[in-house]
Amino acid sequence: MEEHLFFTHKAEEKESFLQRLSGYPSIVITFHQNPDGDAYGSSLGLKFYLESKGKSNVTLISPTEPAEYLKWMPGASEVKVWDESHREIVEEADIIFCLDFSSGSRLKEMKDTVIQAKALKIVVDHHEQPESFGDLYYWDVKASSTCELIFRWIKDMEPEASITKEAAICLYTGLLTDTGSFRFDATTPAVHRIAAELLERGVVPAKVHRSLFDNNPLEKLKFLGFVLGEKLNYLPEYRVAYMAISEEELKRYNSRNGDTEGLVNQGLSIANSVMSVLFTEKEGQIRISFRSVGDFSVADFARAHFDGGGHKNASGGRSQLSLNETVEKFLTLLPNIKAELLSQPS
Ligand code: 5GP
Ligand code: MN
Repeated sequence: MEEHLFFTHKAEEKESFLQRLSGYPSIVITFHQNPDGDAYGSSLGLKFYLESKGKSNVTLISPTEPAEYLKWMPGASEVKVWDESHREIVEEADIIFCLDFSSGSRLKEMKDTVIQAKALKIVVDHHEQPESFGDLYYWDVKASSTCELIFRWIKDMEPEASITKEAAICLYTGLLTDTGSFRFDATTPAVHRIAAELLERGVVPAKVHRSLFDNNPLEKLKFLGFVLGEKLNYLPEYRVAYMAISEEELKRYNSRNGDTEGLVNQGLSIANSVMSVLFTEKEGQIRISFRSVGDFSVADFARAHFDGGGHKNASGGRSQLSLNETVEKFLTLLPNIKAELLSQPS
């Protein structure tokens, strides 16, 4: 696939899309399993935009139950969680937007129904190596977030588009979460310009930030204390931090879906660290989150060894081994990447 493939740059594709959009199409918006602020923000932002254009037949379907920390977002209460009762909506849809993922497997149980649906499928995303299940792609691996792409897409479609306050809050949320509060490398001047426009539409940054990050049950902070105190390991000889959390430990702290979000970043706050890894055991499977700084690609690493992928500095994967065996496997891989890890600037 070309590095940048913007369907709106191709007149005939834009035309085919606009034809589908005319009238009263049935639109489904979906996003990756275990949605984050960007998946949710881009989908809700797009929904509010489409509704402001009179397209009110829009259904948002999440492949899995969303985490609590996103439920304050405008429109969140209308998001449906996939089960068989939604099959017909997907099969009958005219347009399906697939946001913030490029790999069909991230739709979990929804995958086959979406891929086989007759709808025009539009993928808007910034993950590496997209699969080719979509009809139209608005895709840019350099974009900070899918929210940035939705904002750009709206402006491409309609330069004078006015974005409602609700849509602005949603789009701002994804910009904020996917850039790590405007600090990752993808935080370009363009990102700040978009943020500025969203602020002009009524976003209050402190409110969004507090809703996302200062809305924790006490137990979550106790859990964080436990993980930092008992579970965080640092290997200075590799500049690697890692944490492995068992299902029993998650249960002990009454950990809810989403409570481990952001935990992996803690490892990167250690001076000189280059990579941080979080292993969590859930329903017998091991889920892995990778983060890095600099040029070391955790997307390549996850793809090569842990059946995953993502972005250069933030990726995920999985393992069918036990928790201990997965950590062992990881540790045995470190000598192979040592030179690359050590060559990164501090
Ligand atoms: P997280 O650790 O927050 O779950 O995921 C980090 C980043 O990697 C996110 O952008 C997520 O979308 C992506 N990611 C996580 N797991 C996978 C995976 O299995 N495959 C691919 N392609 N991307 C993933
Ligand atoms: Mn994203």
